[in-house]
Amino acid sequence: MTVPIAKLSFWGVRGSTPTVDPATWRYGGNTPCLELIAPDGTQIILDCGTGLRMLGSRWAAPNGGKTPETHILVTHYHWDHIQGIPFFSPLYVENNEFHFYSFRSKFLGRDSLKQVFEAQMALPYFPVDMSAMNAKRKFKEVEGGESFTVGENNISARWLNHPQGCLGFRIETPAGIVAYATDNEPGDAKLDENLRELAAGADIFINDAQFTPEQLETTRKGWGHSSWLEGAKVARQAAAKALVLFHHDPDSTDRMVDSILRQAREEFDSVYAASEGMVVMLGAPGDRVQAHMPGTRTALRREAQFHARVCGVTEAGKDFEEETMVRDISLQGALISLKNLPRLQSELQVTMEAPGTDGVQAMNLRGYVVRIDAGTEKGHVAVGVVFTD
Ligand SMILES: [Zn+2]
Ligand SMILES: [Zn+2]
Repeated sequence: MTVPIAKLSFWGVRGSTPTVDPATWRYGGNTPCLELIAPDGTQIILDCGTGLRMLGSRWAAPNGGKTPETHILVTHYHWDHIQGIPFFSPLYVENNEFHFYSFRSKFLGRDSLKQVFEAQMALPYFPVDMSAMNAKRKFKEVEGGESFTVGENNISARWLNHPQGCLGFRIETPAGIVAYATDNEPGDAKLDENLRELAAGADIFINDAQFTPEQLETTRKGWGHSSWLEGAKVARQAAAKALVLFHHDPDSTDRMVDSILRQAREEFDSVYAASEGMVVMLGAPGDRVQAHMPGTRTALRREAQFHARVCGVTEAGKDFEEETMVRDISLQGALISLKNLPRLQSELQVTMEAPGTDGVQAMNLRGYVVRIDAGTEKGHVAVGVVFTD
C-alpha cells in the first residue's frame, strides 16, 4: 500500500507589492501564490500573485498529463493576489483547463473574477488582448461557509477580516490538512472564530504575519493584516501542527523576517517563515510535515572552506582558470580571492568540492561578478559573486 503524500510549493510569499530589493532575496519578492498537489494528482493553486508567473514557467501538466485541469482558488481582489494572471503562460495554451473559484464582490457584482481578467487585459493596461488566452476558463462563485469537493479533496471557505473581504481556505486531503489564511486582521469575534475553524487541527496553518505585534497595535491597526504573535496564538488555540508565517511586509528585510521567525519559535513549537521555493511534503512516513528549502546551496555551511576552480573572463577580455579557496559563502553568493582580475558584471563558473553524504561532491555554480575589492592576500583581489543558478 502506498502512503498518500501531498506536496505544497510556495511560489510567492511577499505581501502588498513585489520586491526586488537584494535585502529581500532570501525569503523572496514575489506576491502570494501556492501550489498544492494532492495525493490523487489534483492540482490546486492558491492565489494569483506574481509568483504565478514562476509557476507557469516551470509548468508541468497536472494529473500526469491525462486531463490538464487545474483548480485555482482566489482569496480576494487586491493587486498582490491577482497580478500574476496576465503573465501565467499556461493560460495561453489551448489544451489547458482552469477552474477558478472566488467570491462575488459587491464592488464588481456578477462574475467578479471574470471581470478582473477583462479589466487587467483591457487597453491600455496590457498589450495582448483576451482572445489570445486560449485555455478553457471556468468561473465558480464561492461564499464564506461553503464547502465543495475536488477529486478526493474537501475544500471549505470562510470569511476573514480584511478590507473589501477575503476568503480563507481549508483543504483536506488524504495526506493532511492545509489551512490558507492570508490577509486577515484579528479583532472581529465572528471572523476570528472563522480563522480558528479553518486552522482546527490543520497540519499546515498558513497565516498573515505582515506586521510586528507592536505595529499591529499602533500604526498599522485597521490595515487588514496580522502578526506572528497572533498566528502563534491561533495555532495553539486551534491545535494546528505547524504554523507558516506568510505575506511578509515589502519593507521587511530577510534579517527582519529571521528575527520574526526566532520570536515566533519561542511561542510555538513548529514554525516556518514562508520562503519562495520552499516545498512542504505532507503525509510522508516519519515526519508528518517535512519542509525543504530551495536549492542545494542550503546544504553548505557558511563557515566552511571549499576548494574551488574558477573560470571566467579578465578585465582585458582573456579567459582564465584558477584554483582557490572559497571561505565566505551564503545562499546568494560568495567572496572569492583570485589572482586574476575578472571583468565586473561578467560570468564566473565556480566548481566547488563540497562534503556530501557520499563523500566529496563537485558542485557547479554560475556566478555573476558584482564587486571587486583589493584582496587581503598580496597579489589577489576579493571578488564578490552572486550565484545565478
Ligand atoms: Zn495581500
Ligand atoms: Zn489584501
